[in-house]
Amino acid sequence: MYALASEGAKIAAAPERRAVCPGCRLEVVPKCGEIVVWHWAHVALDCDPWHEPECRWHLAWKSIVPPEQCEVVMGPHRTDIVGRNGIVIELQHSAIGPYEIRERETFYRNMVWVFDGTEYSDRFVTYPKQDYFAFRWKHPRKTVAFASKPVFVDLGTEGLFRVGKFYAEGRRGWGKPWSRARFFETYLAVAQP
Ligand SMILES: [Zn+2]
Repeated sequence: MYALASEGAKIAAAPERRAVCPGCRLEVVPKCGEIVVWHWAHVALDCDPWHEPECRWHLAWKSIVPPEQCEVVMGPHRTDIVGRNGIVIELQHSAIGPYEIRERETFYRNMVWVFDGTEYSDRFVTYPKQDYFAFRWKHPRKTVAFASKPVFVDLGTEGLFRVGKFYAEGRRGWGKPWSRARFFETYLAVAQP
């Protein structure tokens, strides 16, 4: 979403702008089409092997926080969002393998996952129990149960669901609904936009 201008400022992509990648410092070019959200792209390959193509969901999240909290470079990687007390918020839209989950958790340590559930909120059903909620998740990301750091599922307008425990490869489990406001306040130190 952001790249570095010659004076070092983080700038958003726009036609004709010139900038370098905050990670590898090589040239990036603005991609400003009508369909995909405006973004920067490396001229050659992306220097971060963990990079995934960004969708509107990613960019909607990133636009909540100021540029300094976005795509912060840590060693060879660019985080999605860095929130309160340096906690890394990993936004996961596409499939991710169990090895990659473990690798990222080991690298970032202080982190939480937010999985994109906005496309299938009707397949994520919660049932209130005594002091928690049980859930059933039809066609979950199979590897999600490998995560050992806190997992949130973004259910769009319904808010988020903080998973306490997964069973059956993520097809069921328990946890608690979280409002967006609570998440933003707890992890991002920003008010709900
Ligand atoms: Zn780069």
